[in-house]
Amino acid sequence: MAHIGIVGGGLIGCATALHLLEQGHTVTILERDAGGLPASVGNAGILATPEIDPMARPDMLLSVPKWLLDPLGPLTLRWQDLPALTPWLIRLLLSARASKVATSRAALLYLMKTAENDHLRLGQFVGISGHIRDTGAMTVFDSAAARDKVFAHETENAKLIGCNVEKLDVEETRRRVPALQGTFAGAVFNDGHKTFEYPLTFLRRLQVALRERSALVDANVASVAQTQDGVAVRTEGGREFTFDRLAITAGVWSRRFVADLGLKVLLETERGYNTTFMNPSTTLEMPVFFSEHGFVATPFENALRIGGAVELASPDAPANYKRAAAMRRKMRHYVPDLQEEGGTEWMGRRPSTPDSIPVISLHPRDPRIAFAFGHGHLGLTLSATTGRHVARLLAGDGESALAPFSIARFQ
Ligand SMILES: Cc1cc2nc3c(=O)[nH]c(=O)nc-3n(C[C@H](O)[C@H](O)[C@H](O)COP(=O)(O)OP(=O)(O)OC[C@H]3O[C@@H](n4cnc5c(N)ncnc54)[C@H](O)[C@@H]3O)c2cc1C
Repeated sequence: MAHIGIVGGGLIGCATALHLLEQGHTVTILERDAGGLPASVGNAGILATPEIDPMARPDMLLSVPKWLLDPLGPLTLRWQDLPALTPWLIRLLLSARASKVATSRAALLYLMKTAENDHLRLGQFVGISGHIRDTGAMTVFDSAAARDKVFAHETENAKLIGCNVEKLDVEETRRRVPALQGTFAGAVFNDGHKTFEYPLTFLRRLQVALRERSALVDANVASVAQTQDGVAVRTEGGREFTFDRLAITAGVWSRRFVADLGLKVLLETERGYNTTFMNPSTTLEMPVFFSEHGFVATPFENALRIGGAVELASPDAPANYKRAAAMRRKMRHYVPDLQEEGGTEWMGRRPSTPDSIPVISLHPRDPRIAFAFGHGHLGLTLSATTGRHVARLLAGDGESALAPFSIARFQ
């Protein structure tokens, strides 16, 4: 059995570590901010297995000019970051070609098919159950034409995933989610979506399980390097570790370690914003997507979280919380009783590849090193599946179905 290091203890790092422990390895996770609030904590908490469409699609590109005109809309670009984002944006445009969209859809479908079972198995391993609720999700629309178009598309996707989709009028939508008293034209209900327990609780439970079974070390990793004896890791504080094998799971910050290891990747942040109301005065029966406006509201046991949107910007650029306020304002159009005061705002960084396919891959020239990042909008959903695949890759058990996820596509 090997001693395996993991750089980054978000959902992807934790799920990878747990699968490696299950195989009998010794695992050390290096995490610079174990009590922090990365994407793995502030996400919308949805097991989104029906979402197999990549971000780059012809219909999405057609909407971009309209979205970019609204500085608080579903998609914004921080223009001063445009030069740094350009290579990623060019690849995004190229990924919208029909053949590329088909490749991305097939790759995401492959992961989605096992996502829920992988989570249930991972939960069993760490002693968690009941953390995924069978809620389904509602998507509401401002026009019947938009609803019908999405209904047709989701019905096609549902056949692949094995879930059911219903087209609803306003009355039936309100019967299922009474708080939706504002103006809208109808909705689509998809029973394939499920809701996790509060994301902060979920990540902390994985971290507790890891602390009991392995080493979760507070360490800000400065560099990684290949040596004859193993893979060397140096921290900002000057500590050094040498591991038999190493997994890089540091979200968007993985890109600096990819460079250390002589490789390239196109990885940027789609930053998202939200507001969480604890013990809200009004809540929902299930997640409600406001897709035309690029956000979602998710009810948890004692909380309601409203957020989403995409801000293409440098990871370290200052947050613009007006975006969180804009989503609350829009939500009041549909849920007039939504409270005004008392919410906590948050900004998080989705680590995103331009083709929406995560990197789940060995180093092409060094099988001691694995990469797992770039899960974009779907890292909660795909964390357990990714951890399982990374553990297999590091055990020398690669499979051809993982070829689309290889980091080789960026070299
Ligand atoms: C608004 C929003 C809503 C979302 N909703 C959903 C959803 O409903 N469903 C879904 O499936 N996904 C959702 N996501 C996406 C999901 O949250 C992410 O894809 C996922 O959390 C990525 O996990 P990660 O572990 O790769 O990265 P992160 O959560 O970013 O974790 C990376 C970790 O690496 C650590 N790290 C970085 N650099 C270093 C270093 N040098 N040394 C040590 N440690 C380091 C960081 O501190 C961090 O803890 C959402 C994301 C956002 C922003």
